[in-house]
Amino acid sequence: MNTRLLTLLIFLLPQFLLAWGANGHRVVAQICYDNLSPSARASVNAAMGDNYLAQLATWPDYIKAESGWDFTQSWHYMTIQPDMTLSDVVNDNNTRSKIDDVHEGIELMLAILKGEPEARQQMTELMQKNKVEPLAGSLDATALAFLIHFIGDVHQPMHVGKNRDRGGNSITVLYFGERKNLHSVWDSGIIEQERLSYTEFAAFANIHFRSHKTECEDDSLSTWINESVALRERIYNTLYDNTDRETGLPSLSWDYQHDFLPIVEERLAAAGYRAAAMLNKIFK
Ligand SMILES: [Zn+2]
Ligand SMILES: [Zn+2]
Repeated sequence: MNTRLLTLLIFLLPQFLLAWGANGHRVVAQICYDNLSPSARASVNAAMGDNYLAQLATWPDYIKAESGWDFTQSWHYMTIQPDMTLSDVVNDNNTRSKIDDVHEGIELMLAILKGEPEARQQMTELMQKNKVEPLAGSLDATALAFLIHFIGDVHQPMHVGKNRDRGGNSITVLYFGERKNLHSVWDSGIIEQERLSYTEFAAFANIHFRSHKTECEDDSLSTWINESVALRERIYNTLYDNTDRETGLPSLSWDYQHDFLPIVEERLAAAGYRAAAMLNKIFK
């Protein structure tokens, strides 16, 4: 590999490594934990051991540095091309037994937590084959970490992306004057711009959106994904509303933050409520 290519890869790597930045995932986990029923909370506590749910939620990104876990890389996102629907993608995936995307990743983790033997065996075999250890030595803790994380990912609209720009990773924008890619603005830029801790961010999001909680309790994974696709289209449609005169790049700053911060809050809150509703159903 030549040095230039290597430098390029090192430069690009962090952008692949991050999903909602760590704080986004912690916000989802915090809102989820705060909305667990007493019995679900007891089961979740037992599965986690000496960890906070907010700590578990970032683990699926940290293990991306370990090649053994490469088989989970594609579980963080999915591709729905503009001319496709979710059911096209799901039908296409059903022809294979492999777990390919975030939709299937969530379903696998749910099945594991429900105690379905086939799913538990499938994940155990995948870990053995790839010589990696479950989180805290526990399949349940592993599945819980992945579930909370993936529910977060699927609410990040750029994680339900289009192939041609790799979910916005290849779109350069100026975010408050700094060159970033559009994907990372949505993973972490909008959240970090607020300079809040994850617990503060979670508290604000919860106050603003708790009225949505009930409607989040009975909807389904396909609803969440379709919402992300609709939001993604809105992001593309408004991208060039303001451009930088010199570079012609989209220039995203206060206006953008004003328009989209409430939406990021709403996505994180919805992810937290929905994750809690799922766990409350499993651990009755
Ligand atoms: Zn992720
Ligand atoms: Zn991401």
